[in-house]
Amino acid sequence: MAKAISLGFPRIGPNRELKKITESYWAGKSSREELLAEAQKIRQQNWSLQKDAGLDQVPSGDFSFYDQMLDLAWALDVVPERYQKVGLTDDLDLYFTMARGGATQALEMTKWFDTNYHYLVPEFDDRPAYSVKRWAHLDIYQEAAGQGFNARPVIIGPLTFALLGKVRTEGVTPLAIVERLLPAYEELLKAFESAGAEWVQIDEPVLALDLDAAQRDALKQALDRLSKATNLKIFLATYFGPLGENLETALNLPVSVLHLDLVRGEEQLDAALAGAPEELTLSLGLIDGRNIWKADLNHAVTLAEKAVSKLSSDRVIIASSCSLMHSPVDLSGETKLNPEVKDWLAFARQKLDEIVLVKRAINEGRAAVQSELTANQESLNKRKNSPLVSNPAVRKRVNAVREDDLRRQSDYVARQQEQHSALGLPAIPTTTIGSFPQTPELRVQRARMRKGEITAQEYDGYIRQEIANAIKQQEDLGIDVLVHGEAERNDMVEYFGELLSGFAFTSNGWVQSYGSRCVKPPIIYGDVERRAPMTVDWWKYSQSLSSKPVKGMLTGPVTILQWSFVRNDQPRRDTCFEIGLAIRDETLDLEAAGCKVIQIDEPALREGLPLRKADKEEYLRWAVDAFRLSSAGVQNATQIHTHMCYAEFNEIVPSIAAMDADVISMESARSQMELLEAFIQNQYQNEIGPGVYDIHSPRIPSAEEMKALLLKALEVIPKERLWANPDCGLKTRRWEEVKPALTNLVSAAQAIRATT
Ligand code: GLN
Ligand code: ZN
Repeated sequence: MAKAISLGFPRIGPNRELKKITESYWAGKSSREELLAEAQKIRQQNWSLQKDAGLDQVPSGDFSFYDQMLDLAWALDVVPERYQKVGLTDDLDLYFTMARGGATQALEMTKWFDTNYHYLVPEFDDRPAYSVKRWAHLDIYQEAAGQGFNARPVIIGPLTFALLGKVRTEGVTPLAIVERLLPAYEELLKAFESAGAEWVQIDEPVLALDLDAAQRDALKQALDRLSKATNLKIFLATYFGPLGENLETALNLPVSVLHLDLVRGEEQLDAALAGAPEELTLSLGLIDGRNIWKADLNHAVTLAEKAVSKLSSDRVIIASSCSLMHSPVDLSGETKLNPEVKDWLAFARQKLDEIVLVKRAINEGRAAVQSELTANQESLNKRKNSPLVSNPAVRKRVNAVREDDLRRQSDYVARQQEQHSALGLPAIPTTTIGSFPQTPELRVQRARMRKGEITAQEYDGYIRQEIANAIKQQEDLGIDVLVHGEAERNDMVEYFGELLSGFAFTSNGWVQSYGSRCVKPPIIYGDVERRAPMTVDWWKYSQSLSSKPVKGMLTGPVTILQWSFVRNDQPRRDTCFEIGLAIRDETLDLEAAGCKVIQIDEPALREGLPLRKADKEEYLRWAVDAFRLSSAGVQNATQIHTHMCYAEFNEIVPSIAAMDADVISMESARSQMELLEAFIQNQYQNEIGPGVYDIHSPRIPSAEEMKALLLKALEVIPKERLWANPDCGLKTRRWEEVKPALTNLVSAAQAIRATT
């Protein structure tokens, strides 16, 4: 008989209980006992939910107080020396310090594959061998088993753990680390086995990346060793993409089960069925763990039947494509969603039912679940034919996009002249990235407006006050190009999504982004169209308050796409172009209203990069095109800015150049302008504002410090092309920090102007 499982379940709790309790614990408002008790409750609920849904086994170890990579680092004592130095003796304090800093710096954080989840980067030293120091994984398995659940401990595999970490000792390779980690894995597996576990899930998502032969070989040797050390059945999980040239290796590893992501890599099923050795079971990742759409269950059953006819049902497991932690917890509480749209969706809780349904179709025959399959087909048909989804006028416009629409009238050199004479700015102009601190007062009023306690007009009045204040502050500071401060925006994607057609918003559709931080991405379900101008009135109001140029502020198409749940019924590129056209219309309306400087933020451009080299180029091409579509319609004299955060640009600088924005601002204060190198090497021609003020910290940088950074930038960028600005928006800071910091920024720029 085929079995049904999930690879992991959201650990945030149905109402973000984990966030609330951990933040309260950090603030000293909840005790450790309360924290541990709440975590235990969430785990128990999740296990019960999965068992009651009909899963044959539940994952244990998918829970984490912060991050699963951190959990393993902490358990195996992959703890950099700096933590010992500050004398962290308490395990939990150590754990949270590694996560968030405190007595010493936190571990670095970076994105987990191409998701919006962030993990903490383990730092390996020159230790000859690792061993288990903290037994949380075992404790949690025992907790599940003690409550009568058939649990399968889940851990990150050694190759993924090592390759995603950083080796601090020169000469030690990540593959050497894999070997040094194995004694710890052996210990862990043996402990699970003696505690009564029958299975262990080892996650090796790096198998969906480009690996070389040595890396594949290291994995093979690791699993040879681990399989000999234990009688546990090893469930090897891969996800986030097809295995490609790693498939053959994966199929021949000494494991009991190989899990394949068939949502992202359906094409690998045939090869896997043909190549699976006699004793291997395949786990079919048929239900998408990363999106919010109902599955096509008939199609999933067809794939599962194909596997069963080749392998027999005993060698088939029905599963989610990856952990369900990347989708929101439960759809059933969403009472405000348009019921028509809601009928097309499935969150983690609903996905469990889908998994079980496919299993039943296999084990009991389709007839046993015919009514459910029919209902599912009806939902899909309704979605496909819904006028909410397709807007022929939009499709027509996207299809009519020509090369010319992606090109500015003249090249940058000609534009620069026109812009400089139109704007009359000093050398090294000062500006900010867009947002200013949002006052508690404004947040209160926004909440009241959403509850209907104040009218939209009253709310607008409060926003006007904020804008007027932001403009006044910037004038007093002597900034050259002003911003209105984004007071009307709760979030840079949500704000535009709410004004565009084709978007839906949930009340509680949270997913973990990092630690206690959750995001609630909009759902793009249909063709995107701008109904009316979105920012023009606010811009006009702010410009009316100053004779200095005020930037128009827009979020770029790639960022809107990337930070939403996107349609699975058309290529991402098409959706991105639709958004690009909507932003283009806004750009042109701003220009027509008299706006001379328009910033289109693309902080998420890099995040969208596919995992495999072979796919990167195509993505970058359409992503750049979508940005150009949104920006290229304006006159030469209109200055287009873009903004990006995160410092890992090096590999995409040519694409950033191809965006052809007149000015780019980006994060660089912390890296001491390091990334300018990449721009210089690629002969970047346009203007640049490398951030000189690290806005992630409450620290107020001195004028001297910022001057030094600007001088460093001037070594490689002529002063006609350099801007002075912070790293990013200022909305997370307080006015008391922002004012002195910007005062210093302005005087740094002025001092340089006077002397160079
Ligand atoms: N304009 C946005 C702001 O200042 C940009 C934010 C971002 O880069 N994430 O808040
Ligand atoms: Zn930013």
